[in-house]
Amino acid sequence: MKQRIALLGSTGSIGVQTLDIVRENPGRFEVRVLTACKNWERLAAQARAFDADTAVIADKRFYQPLRDALAGTDTKVYAGEEAVAQVAAGGDTDVVVNALVGYAGLAPTVAALSKGKKLALANKESLVVGGEHVMRLSAEHRAPILPVDSEHSAIFQCLQGERAPVRRLLITCSGGALRDLPREELAHVTVEQALRHPQWSMGAKITIDSSTLVNKGFEVIEAHWLFGTPASKIDVLLHPESIVHSMVEFEDGAVKAQLGSPDMRLPISYALLYPDRADRPGERFDFLQHPSLTFSAVDRAKYPALDLAYDCLARGGTAACTMNAANEVAVGAFLARRCAWTDIVRTIEHALAHTSFTAAPSLDDYARSDAEARTQAAAFLSL
Ligand code: NDP
Repeated sequence: MKQRIALLGSTGSIGVQTLDIVRENPGRFEVRVLTACKNWERLAAQARAFDADTAVIADKRFYQPLRDALAGTDTKVYAGEEAVAQVAAGGDTDVVVNALVGYAGLAPTVAALSKGKKLALANKESLVVGGEHVMRLSAEHRAPILPVDSEHSAIFQCLQGERAPVRRLLITCSGGALRDLPREELAHVTVEQALRHPQWSMGAKITIDSSTLVNKGFEVIEAHWLFGTPASKIDVLLHPESIVHSMVEFEDGAVKAQLGSPDMRLPISYALLYPDRADRPGERFDFLQHPSLTFSAVDRAKYPALDLAYDCLARGGTAACTMNAANEVAVGAFLARRCAWTDIVRTIEHALAHTSFTAAPSLDDYARSDAEARTQAAAFLSL
């Protein structure tokens, strides 16, 4: 039987690659729901190509153009962020792929899990902001979360068939676009420089997060929640080649790694087809093309965001929510050329010092904390 998919964020980098997997496996999936924020033209084209039952545009200003573009089709059209969460919980789908970017992903994650849906999760911010809540919902409603993030997919694959306790998770890190830039030059980094990721082609926000290592910090938090591993047992290792996607060390000293070309379609297809694997005939990894795999420690002084994320994890409560909100504001400002690259981490530090902290937050507390941190961040950057 075909899996019926709701794909949230279908117009983005992960969304488009998810549709590649659907195309490669015509007998296995049926696309029921597609959503975007503003890009109604691409959304309309996707809805037509996949004969989607429903298309949702989060930004209500683009409802009419989307409706017009889908005139004469059977696709139902809705608008608004609430509609995105509603379709995530909708009755006639088997799996929700959450490929939204940022805090906007949390409500649909909560909605999908509350209805017991299988969730293929790319939106790491859901776990960064509300990990405790999200994992509780997953357990209560027996709604599995399958990681799409390549590092977490790698760890998940390494854990298959293992019952023994884990000694350490080793999350690998490409180092991002500024890996080879001396620390003194960071204050003058341009948007173009920071967007030039050496290995992965991704959405703008995660590419900037990779350049600051905020992304790696978020992945530590994500791994903590997904695998129940304490922060003290999660290490980050610089691995510029991005061939080892992450590793697990066991108590007997054995280390398992998952390797392959940097291609997000592998973790996406694994999340969708688990416990099966996709048949991707073109995929042949050639070790001879990659004779040298190197590893080193991350420069924690150059990249303070990593320690900030560990601190947030140790503090718990709304700390990581605050970090995420301040980061979203600062990354938006950097991309709009309204602040320097080095201001991103300074903004996070400011928000963490000035935003109120709630130790045992409800979902409403996360929303309050997110809004407060955004206000703090905007004021700090004079936006
Ligand atoms: P993109 O920016 O490429 O795409 C984001 C998608 O979400 C788009 O469809 C966008 O619509 C939609 N969207 C943006 N804001 C909102 C909003 N407020 N409400 C509803 N929809 C919204 O992001 P990526 O695909 O790069 O990343 C998606 C997630 O996956 C992120 O959490 C990222 O960290 C994670 N991830 C991404 C990887 C990658 O390779 N790209 C790798 C690992 C994880 P529109 O196009 O209309 O703006």
